[in-house]
Amino acid sequence: MFRQYDRQKESYKDSVLLFRMGDFYEMFKSDAIEISRLLNLTLTQRQGVPMCGIPYYAVDNYIARLLEHGKKIAICEQVEMPKGKGLAKREVVEVVTPGTIINVSHLDNRTNNYLAALVGNGKNTSLAYVDLSTGEFRATVLAENSEKELLRREIARTNPREVIIQEVLLESDKYSFLGDLDVVLDCQPDWVFDLRQSRERLLKQFQTANLKAFGIDDEEPSILAAGAILNYLDDKHKGVLPHIRSIEIFDESSALGLDESTIRNLEIVKNLHDGGSSFTLLETLDHTKTSLGARKLRRRILQPFPELASIVLHHERVEKLYRSQTTLAKLRDLLSGILDIERLSARIAMDKAHAKDLIAVRDSLTGAFGIRDIVEDSLLDDGRGDLEALFSLLFTLAEMFDKSLMEEPSILLTEGRLIKEGWDSKLDEMRRKNDSGEKILKDYAAEEKAASGINSIKLKYNRIIGYFFEVRKGQADRVPERFRRRQSLAQCERFTTEKLGELEAEINSIKERIIEYEQELFLSIREEAKKHVSELLRLAGIISDIDVVQAFSHAATEYGYVRPRMIEDSRIEIERGRHPIVECHIPHGSFVPNSISIDSDGVSFALITGPNMAGKSTILRQVALITLMAHAGSFVPADSALIGLVDRIYCRVGATDNLARGESTFLVEMNETANILRSASKQSLVIMDEIGRGTGTADGLAIAKAVCEYLLTQTTPKTLFATHYRELTKIEHPHLINLSMAVHEKDGLLIFPKTLVPGPAEASYGIHVGSMAGLPESVVRRAQELLLSQEARSSTETTRKAVQISLFDNREMILEKLRDLELDNLTPMESLQILARWQKELNLVS
Ligand code: ADP
Ligand code: MG
Repeated sequence: MFRQYDRQKESYKDSVLLFRMGDFYEMFKSDAIEISRLLNLTLTQRQGVPMCGIPYYAVDNYIARLLEHGKKIAICEQVEMPKGKGLAKREVVEVVTPGTIINVSHLDNRTNNYLAALVGNGKNTSLAYVDLSTGEFRATVLAENSEKELLRREIARTNPREVIIQEVLLESDKYSFLGDLDVVLDCQPDWVFDLRQSRERLLKQFQTANLKAFGIDDEEPSILAAGAILNYLDDKHKGVLPHIRSIEIFDESSALGLDESTIRNLEIVKNLHDGGSSFTLLETLDHTKTSLGARKLRRRILQPFPELASIVLHHERVEKLYRSQTTLAKLRDLLSGILDIERLSARIAMDKAHAKDLIAVRDSLTGAFGIRDIVEDSLLDDGRGDLEALFSLLFTLAEMFDKSLMEEPSILLTEGRLIKEGWDSKLDEMRRKNDSGEKILKDYAAEEKAASGINSIKLKYNRIIGYFFEVRKGQADRVPERFRRRQSLAQCERFTTEKLGELEAEINSIKERIIEYEQELFLSIREEAKKHVSELLRLAGIISDIDVVQAFSHAATEYGYVRPRMIEDSRIEIERGRHPIVECHIPHGSFVPNSISIDSDGVSFALITGPNMAGKSTILRQVALITLMAHAGSFVPADSALIGLVDRIYCRVGATDNLARGESTFLVEMNETANILRSASKQSLVIMDEIGRGTGTADGLAIAKAVCEYLLTQTTPKTLFATHYRELTKIEHPHLINLSMAVHEKDGLLIFPKTLVPGPAEASYGIHVGSMAGLPESVVRRAQELLLSQEARSSTETTRKAVQISLFDNREMILEKLRDLELDNLTPMESLQILARWQKELNLVS
């Protein structure tokens, strides 16, 4: 047996081998040592070999946990029982890896689960990814010289669980960062990848003579990665994958450009704080009702539309539902009854669906028909032609499920309870025989009772000994001759008779035949369903689209968004805009709206100054998010918005604000800045927040200034530039406007009303903020001295005022503390200590 084990393990070295032995899956040797520790299992031994095991019925649960640890699992089953004393034949029937999961219980229903492949041909690098649980399949060639940037972006968008990668690539500088990510890497030697083989595999997959229909020509390098994925799936015994019916080749122009740091800094799907989904755009906008819709929405905000027609079409749809709140409410209601048709279809396609899955499809279809009844066809139109034909075909399918499958069917194929009465006359006949067999049995039991006069005789059944008569101990010696004893228990005796045995055999054989026949009927129903997988997937697309549209309408209703006016234009004009995420997390109505307008043909550059905490970062992100939402087809948080189409959005944050990443931050900041300067166009929107902060004041300022000048004179993208370098406000250029966050003074206290006003900030009030935050008075004082002497040459009224204010402030604060002091709760000693501290803080003593 160990020889057999070693042979199997040899072929699946990188997987945990689950070796089926009776009711257990066993792990041996190094697997046993590692996994027992990982999953907290008891480690035992067999002939000195370490082993640990898990019961077969709980295997799903353990697989899920192994997947979470990024393990691959090879499942080795007994495929043939031993003849005589030999060893059962065993084979690996499936390899489950984090990127190839299709079991819904191991998947998060609101996110896609991607397997990616990265392959180079010496010149180009191609990237492909697939979600095996939904059939989505896409590929691209990473544009030369920006491979790393593009790969980072695709990873941020798709978050793959597993990446197949050519060995040499992982060794190169460009891609070595993959090794630091939380993904499973499958390194493959060079020779595994071959263009011709890949093409052939794709042709076989799509059953076409060439790939023209997918816009792929014969030498297209992205074939390499796409084929590699399919070959990998073949290796993992994933079958023929009939739900993967097409491949989409994409490039830069397929979506509004968002690079990795923009995705991160705008907190689109993950927050910067802990990588979770709270405080993200996704969380704010996800009013979807189905998991299909949730996944589509996530993709949509990561890959907004790049062109006007789709955007306007979606705004129109959102508006239609927005204006018809009753339809919206009904639609949401119907959508909540629709299950994951995409993943269910994948299960049908891969011969994994059980009867409950098909019932779930039927119920979802019923929901879809309801939706069609209440919304206009124009809202469901997916541009792929005849909806009537699609729905009538699906109607027939639903009817078949309805007529053939039991309401509460078994999820196994081996215990009957699958097929409804009336579907198949042969089955009905068998069932009648079975029923009458059971009746004959009951009649026979009554007969024996009467004949023997023993009234405690009962006919019973258990799985071990089958049918038997049970007689209470006191009456057991009165049973007739023909009763044979089978079992003695404390309270009773169990008997059988020749006739009982015969009747039982008859019933059992018919029961078995019913089970087999039900299975056969079920498989033919599933086979029929499999023929319609592409229609089911098309419906899934329609449903997920309308779910996203209704989610946008619902968010618009809930939060008071408006439809943006989208045109091909150089302007962005936002009237009383709001930050969609911040406004949701502060008391209702307390967010202060701000208006802004920029124009890449006119005033393209807004320089925003103002003290810390005044709201600079918020207004910057707000403009970027509103622009992004509009491109994704959503309404926006503003009183009105005119959004000229943009090609890319960039959002950069100066190094010290960028703590989440933990790399050499200034270098990263400069890298990212360089990338913007290189790739931003006139149609882009650039958000720069405190660039240049990661280095010394002088060179930081110099860099910031040079960057400003470049953006003003070279490419002129629409730019919002927030900075604490007030020196930058001295730049004069017809395309630059100085804006600042208002600062008010009230009773010697500074107030930041969060309003954007024309003109540069007067002072940075840093010392003031420092003293508010509780810097010791001596530090505050010293800072004031330094500032005054530093600025003595250019001493301005405002600087002096700022210093005075911060000094005044400290006294204010101590007065406030004095007012709040609870004297009743203080010991004399504590009071003295407080007094001493205040004396010090006010610099009255040294
Ligand atoms: P800055 O970048 O100028 O230091 P932030 O944009 O980080 O300031 O804003 C500071 C705080 O003020 C944030 O916590 C934010 O929630 C809040 N805030 C910013 N803008 C507004 C606004 N318009 N209305 C209400 N609160 C705001
Ligand atoms: Mg800021």
